Amino acid sequence: AREIKEAVQESTSVNGDPESSEDFDVHQDFGENPLEVRTTDHYTEEYVTGFVDKWDELIDWKRRAESEGTFFVEQLKKRGVRKVLDVATGTGFHSVRLIEEGFETVSADGSAEMLAKAFENGIKSGGHILRVVNADWRWLNRDVHGEYDAIVCLGNSFTHLFSERDRRKALAEFYAMLKHDGVLILDQRNYDSILDEGFSSKHTYYYCGEEVSAVPEHVDDGLARFRYTFPDGSQYHLNMYPLRKNYMRRLMREVGFQHVETFGDFQETYREAEPDFFIHVAEKR
Ligand code: SAM
Repeated sequence: AREIKEAVQESTSVNGDPESSEDFDVHQDFGENPLEVRTTDHYTEEYVTGFVDKWDELIDWKRRAESEGTFFVEQLKKRGVRKVLDVATGTGFHSVRLIEEGFETVSADGSAEMLAKAFENGIKSGGHILRVVNADWRWLNRDVHGEYDAIVCLGNSFTHLFSERDRRKALAEFYAMLKHDGVLILDQRNYDSILDEGFSSKHTYYYCGEEVSAVPEHVDDGLARFRYTFPDGSQYHLNMYPLRKNYMRRLMREVGFQHVETFGDFQETYREAEPDFFIHVAEKR
């Protein structure tokens, strides 16, 4: 595993951005005042080895695939998509799924550690060799080449961008990498219900039965800090920007997407009338 990590780091060092170099730490570092950590660049330090390994062990891919169903794949197939760029590869779940469905897939992520894990997972799940590229969304066109029929940004990833400038820049980069009739599929947690309904909506989200819990520990207009607790008692945090659904839709339209359709979906075992996730399907023409 170490060798793969080093190889991925080496092969992706074209990025040349000193802020994107990582040391594959197992501990998260939010400093003395975690609620002040509201910067886009912090994401590479949040997905540390311990966290992602535990997540992948517990939330097994078979179960995830069952709960997610065929929604994304159907959206892509009905548009005749062949080439897909997964911009938030993470540990590779969606990339592997797409390859298995026959899509020509390139797997990008701003974290070399995540890509190393994804590469390993690809081999373990059916011997797939993922085409990985280490690229931050804000400079995507610099590091990823070619044009794509579709871009997917899934697993509540866009929430890691903390300024509107970064969000606009990332969406503009996505737009530019799509063919004239391309489609962007981007999902997000339903933050509206957490922001609007106040404390009562800060319920615990359970993944994989009751084994992993996620609690919004702090929420304000500029930060949603979630605490993840695993069966062995270990805890990790993610600091995220609470994207409102209509704000996200507006941004996509302003960047140039002509048609944005938003779906509500239930991805967790805890169910309410309101969906926990929204999925935006944004078409370029
Ligand atoms: N799609 C995967 C899934 O659902 O399992 C991974 C989702 S994970 C929550 C979010 C991923 O987005 C992380 O791997 C992180 O490194 C990546 N990410 C966050 N901000 C990014 C940025 N600005 N540029 C590139 N990747 C970014």
